[in-house]
This record gives sequence, C-alpha cells and structure tokens, in this order.
Amino acid sequence: MNEAAEHSVTDGERIPFNRPYLTGRERDYIEEVLQSRLFAGDGAFSRRCQALLQQRFGAASVQLTTSCTSALEVAALLCDLAPDDEVIVPSYTFVSTANAFWLRRAKVKFVDIRRDTLNIDETQIEAAIGPRTRVIAPVHYAGVGCEMDAIMALAAKHGLIVVEDAAQGVNATYKGRYLGTIGDMGCYSFHDSKNFVAGEGGAFLTNNESLARRAEIVREKGTNRSQFFRGEVDKYTWMDIGSSYIASDLLAAMLLAQLEGMDEITALRGRAYGRYAVALASLVAAGAVEVQSIPQHCATNFHLFYILVEDPDTRTRLIDHLKRQGIHAVFHYVPLHSSPVGETMGNRAGMLPVTEYCAERIVRLPLYAGLRDEDVDRVAGSVRSFFGH
Ligand SMILES: *Cc1c(COP(=O)(O)O)cnc(C)c1O
Repeated sequence: MNEAAEHSVTDGERIPFNRPYLTGRERDYIEEVLQSRLFAGDGAFSRRCQALLQQRFGAASVQLTTSCTSALEVAALLCDLAPDDEVIVPSYTFVSTANAFWLRRAKVKFVDIRRDTLNIDETQIEAAIGPRTRVIAPVHYAGVGCEMDAIMALAAKHGLIVVEDAAQGVNATYKGRYLGTIGDMGCYSFHDSKNFVAGEGGAFLTNNESLARRAEIVREKGTNRSQFFRGEVDKYTWMDIGSSYIASDLLAAMLLAQLEGMDEITALRGRAYGRYAVALASLVAAGAVEVQSIPQHCATNFHLFYILVEDPDTRTRLIDHLKRQGIHAVFHYVPLHSSPVGETMGNRAGMLPVTEYCAERIVRLPLYAGLRDEDVDRVAGSVRSFFGH
C-alpha cells in the first residue's frame, strides 16, 4: 500500500479485503489441546474435524493436511506419474494446482476458462488430451463448481484421474454434491484467506478406499503409523513414498470451531454477497461491469465477489479510487501460462484469450463473515460513484 493512499483516507474506517471470522469457540478448543499435552497431528480434534466433514459432505475419507498445497501434493503422488505424463489444469489458478504435478516432473497443459464463471472451459479440455494425459485438475473458482458431469465423462472416456482443487469450494455444491467429493480426489484449504480457517491448513478427500489407504501412508512420511495407532498392526515401518503432511491438533482445534460454525459463516458471507449483487445490479445492467454468474445447478459458498471492468486501465483507477476511500480491493492471479515457469514450458501470451482478458480486468471486493451492511453499502456506493452512477 502506498503512503499517500494510507493518509488520504477520508470516509470512515478502513475496510480490509479479508478479515477471518471467529465463532467464539476457538479459544476453548485450543485450551483443551494445551491441557491435554497432545499437540501432534491426527489427535482428538483432527478426528472430530474429519468426522464432521465426512458426514456433512458425504466423503468416505477426509484427511487433514498442513495446507491445500500439501493435499494437492498427496494427490499428485498418488497419481503415480511418469516423467512427461501430462496434467490438464486451468491457467487461471493459484500456483499450487500446477506446481504439485510439476514437482512430480509431469508436463502441465493449460486450458482456457469460461468468461461467465472463470472456471476451466470444459468444452476445450478434450482438445488438450493426448496419449500422455493422465490427470485433469479442475479448480472451483470463487466457490462455484466447474461442469463436473462433462469433466467426469471425459475422464471416463479417456481413462484419466480427476483431482479437484476445491481450495475455495468448501461447503459448496454441484448438482447437490459437495465440491471436492466428485472427482477421484479432492483438496481443501483452511488458509486465512478462505471461508473456514485454521491459519494454515487443508484436507485431502477421496471416496476410493485404496487411494484413502495409500494417502494415509503418504501423508505419514511413507509409514503405516496410522494403522499402528488404530491397533491394526503391531509395529509401523516404511511402506511407500511420502512426506510430512499432517496438521497439528492445535490447528485442528481452531478448525473444529470454524467447521461447527459453517452455517453461520456461510450465511454471513451470503448476506454480504447478496447485498453487493443488489447494489451493483444497475451497473451490470448498464454494461459497466460483469459479475460472476452462478449456474442454476451450483450452490456457492460465497467465497468471492468480483467484478470485471472494461479494460486494465479502468481497473487500476478503480482500485486506486477505492483505496483513497479506505477500501482494499484487489485483483487476482497472474495466469500461470505466462508466468516465468509457464514460459519455460513453451507457453506464451495470447494463447489463452479468456484467461488473459479476465486476469487483467478482475477486481475482487471485500467479502468476509462480519462485513457489515453499511460496509457493503459503502464499497458498492464507492464503485457506483466511480462509474458515475
Ligand atoms: C488458496 C488456494 C490454494 C492453496 O491453499 P493453501 O492451503 O494455502 O496451500 C490452492 N489452490 C487454490 C485454487 C487456492 O485458492
């Protein structure tokens, strides 16, 4: 943030882009772990989080991890990729979606997104499938589901594995099914920037029993210690590749309080989201901005409220205008295909026009549980005044 902007705030308190919400039970649960002297992973609170998510979302196996990045790494390890096997991902995503597979020496093939949802364009996936393609990794942007029926049908036709990056999609559904439980494997994030937070945290999900068994070993440094703790074997040892991906029970205690408050948090976010939609409807109708459209068959978790403006210069000026009024609005990803690593893979600007168009025009408005009605009105009013409405 530049200094001039900091000092020219005129209109009330600053409105941050994000502010994690506390349900009130976090402190008691963390205190319980401190009292127990059992801080390591897969303890009582981790098991309660896992059971809650399994029951609520209908997932056979949920395993907490230190982040969504590590859940994606577990998934990528379980794909058993050979060098030069190919993985299809959208370019408009966080680095980890692609990096988890690149770490395994796979080739990453980027596919364009849909302008209405910013999700991978399912109609362009088949053209990217070749003889070495092994995985499709759709990303549910802003908590709105990708077209999973089409993606699963392509995967079945070509014998591919589907890994859902549902970092932003916790507690959102596609045709009544929870995001992260539809593909072969799913990955959640509980980072501060997401809907339900543990500071840093994530989860690996699968409905496939053999993948679940192997994931337990992979996230436990390649050992069968989980089976040992359950009393299923009398010693534990090195069984497979793996690393250290298990979150501390202290973080699980914080997370349990958040997950128990899932409905409350979602309702608060939904209230702010709905208020933005109403307040900005006239700008959308006038063609000044576009907003995300949510397909009928998707229920969002209200992860983001964004607008697309007409050109990159308007975006810079709008973000500055909001900043001068104490409002922190932000853009989002640098498309991965045009990043320094993406370029080493032979990609170049111009290749994915919708991704490039939207990446340069998106503005995400402040949205979090606890954002007050008057804050939403102030942000929306400031956006409207910028466009002379
Ligand atoms: C936040 C995010 C991640 C990374 O989550 P961490 O828990 O911080 O590792 C991965 N993918 C997407 C799409 C995200 O939004």
